[in-house]
Amino acid sequence: MKASADALRVGGFVPFSSIDWPGRLAAVLFVQGCPWRCAYCHNPHLQSREASAAAGPSWPELRAWLQRRHGLIDGIVFSGGEPTLDPAIVAAAAEVKSAGFAVGLHTAGMVPSRLQALLPHLDWVGLDVKAPLDDDALHDRITSRAGSVEPVRTSLALLQRSGIDFECRTTAHPELLDAESLSAVADSLAATGTQRWALQIARPAGPHGLALVQEAYPGSDVLAHARSRMAVFTLRRE
Ligand code: SF4
Repeated sequence: MKASADALRVGGFVPFSSIDWPGRLAAVLFVQGCPWRCAYCHNPHLQSREASAAAGPSWPELRAWLQRRHGLIDGIVFSGGEPTLDPAIVAAAAEVKSAGFAVGLHTAGMVPSRLQALLPHLDWVGLDVKAPLDDDALHDRITSRAGSVEPVRTSLALLQRSGIDFECRTTAHPELLDAESLSAVADSLAATGTQRWALQIARPAGPHGLALVQEAYPGSDVLAHARSRMAVFTLRRE
């Protein structure tokens, strides 16, 4: 049975953002729940999937809010947590789309079947690629979960076949991804035909006390290599 949008577990909400969807003004809705445990996670309060942890506005409240936002924002980005974990997201995305707004998605690609169901309602996707796609051990070390990269490979293939606008993005910290690993991420993406990659330098926070990242990281060789492998490469220091 299809889940009702009203059941969506909303952990947080930002009414206006110019940075979560490149080139668009969007509201960002944070969906509660994520089974991975990345050391640089900035939203550990969103990891629990418990309904009682979902502290955001309800979907009916957001639906009413959205009706008053025509002409003020371009769309909604579903973020998290991991939004594809929530069965209600498909109906919620469909509602946003039929209300006349564009729909964006931030995902780590961990539930390809739900991504597939979402695709008809999406205009843009930011797909987290946490490690070289062919380095299962490193991906598992970063997520602290076994078998974590296989669904990411499947999700990337789905996005490529769909023709949807998407960006792959990697959060980078020298304690998790050295220069060689970063270049390997670029190579593994290029091998799939991916054209667009953003490297996002990790902020000094998260539950595991990662150190402040120095300006010298990731280094000019990594950046030159990335630019040689991608049609569009972006470095973000937040
Ligand atoms: S996948 Fe995202 S939300 Fe989940 S633990 Fe990692 S950084 Fe946090």
